[in-house]
Amino acid sequence: MQPSRRIRPRRVAALASVTVLTLAVSTSAGSGHLAPGTTTAGPISLARSSSYGPCMISGSPAVQMSEGLPTPGGYSRSTGTVRALTLMVDFSDAPGSGSAVDRFREFFPQTQNWFRTSSYGRLDYRPETPIPGWLRMPKSFRAYGIERGAPFDPGYRQLVQDIVAVADPRVDFRSYDFLNVLVTPNAGPSALDTVLSVTFAGNTEAPVADGVPVANASFVYSRQDDGSGSYEQTGYRVLPHENGHVFGLPDLYTQEGGGAVGHWDIMSEDWGANNDLLGWHKWKLGWLDAAQVNCATAPGTTEYSLTPLARAGGTKLVFVPLDRRTGYAVELRTREGNDEAVCRPGILVYKVDADVDTGRGPVTVYDSQRDSGGCTRSPNVHAELSDAPLVAGEEFLDTRRGVRISVVGTGAGAEDAALVGAETGAGADEEAEGEGDAGAGGSGAGEYRVRVTRGLG
Ligand SMILES: [Zn+2]
Repeated sequence: MQPSRRIRPRRVAALASVTVLTLAVSTSAGSGHLAPGTTTAGPISLARSSSYGPCMISGSPAVQMSEGLPTPGGYSRSTGTVRALTLMVDFSDAPGSGSAVDRFREFFPQTQNWFRTSSYGRLDYRPETPIPGWLRMPKSFRAYGIERGAPFDPGYRQLVQDIVAVADPRVDFRSYDFLNVLVTPNAGPSALDTVLSVTFAGNTEAPVADGVPVANASFVYSRQDDGSGSYEQTGYRVLPHENGHVFGLPDLYTQEGGGAVGHWDIMSEDWGANNDLLGWHKWKLGWLDAAQVNCATAPGTTEYSLTPLARAGGTKLVFVPLDRRTGYAVELRTREGNDEAVCRPGILVYKVDADVDTGRGPVTVYDSQRDSGGCTRSPNVHAELSDAPLVAGEEFLDTRRGVRISVVGTGAGAEDAALVGAETGAGADEEAEGEGDAGAGGSGAGEYRVRVTRGLG
């Protein structure tokens, strides 16, 4: 009966061409580590007294899993070398078919590559499988009573205790930062009906193994196969989503689905074409230096140059704080790196509210082309928001808060990128790679110039 350990049932997403259910639950409660000596995720080294202080928004303590900075203790480290104890488990009523190593290969090496790309090499993710075969649980799958939205007690507590008991002779749990449990895909319903995949993060009351609580654990079930034929390329993406919780990131979809953020962050949508994280999340995870983030507090108009978020180096994020809990984030999204589904490259503007909990819509993307239907027909990508970014000549205006964000120009390469985006339009998702590399002008190839005005009228 811990009121602080709530479970958030995940949304139902009705998408353009294929309707899927995606479920995950994240919990968060206090601090605790699977491995001793791990430190807090995110850029905690940024002192609140620094010039970034006003941008380090935070929510009230009642928020379970917040967008606020810094990320509280209890989650796994998100920079440096991180060891993910990865176990494949099966049950007497759902015996693993095929080899457990094949199950592992559904997620690796793609998951570690995904994190390497997204983090610009700052997260060195090491999946380790000290037990390469199926780990048979002592109870039937049915006996654990695991279903969509199941809380940690009693089923998951029992499952984690059993995993610890069965694995302990061959595993030193102190050697790892968090736990991945890859469940045999024949246990439980098809992901097309109900997605059971879930993460329990920052769980101080988790069972203890080798003296450390199993505080951060991701469980993956079934196969997120939408039938589009892309499972081999993109089916792994549920794991980076679940591990996002292990690093302290909240869910961005709501009970209404992915309409708040669309495909602009893997914590919003993890089916379908690959996509990256928001710049805000990269800052939160410690993947951006302070110098790559501009905190726009000055009254009047200030101009900034942004480089594509998917590319290493350069300025990535402008944050316009509104108060201690909220602000607007501004970043440049182009089709490269993990961002495969971008069909209208440009400046993405979104509101971050640190006082809104996981699954309740802590981030809202501003749609520059409202009710357009979007520019992608890629399956499982929330289409309406796919053309959300602003291009040169467009602006975002919040008259109430006196904030204007306008895109005033681009570098030579970026103009190419914008042009390609306009031309690809609906359906064409194949081309447009590496745009923005040509033409190293004085303003920097691929850069967008953005003007932020505070204190309007
Ligand atoms: Zn989730």
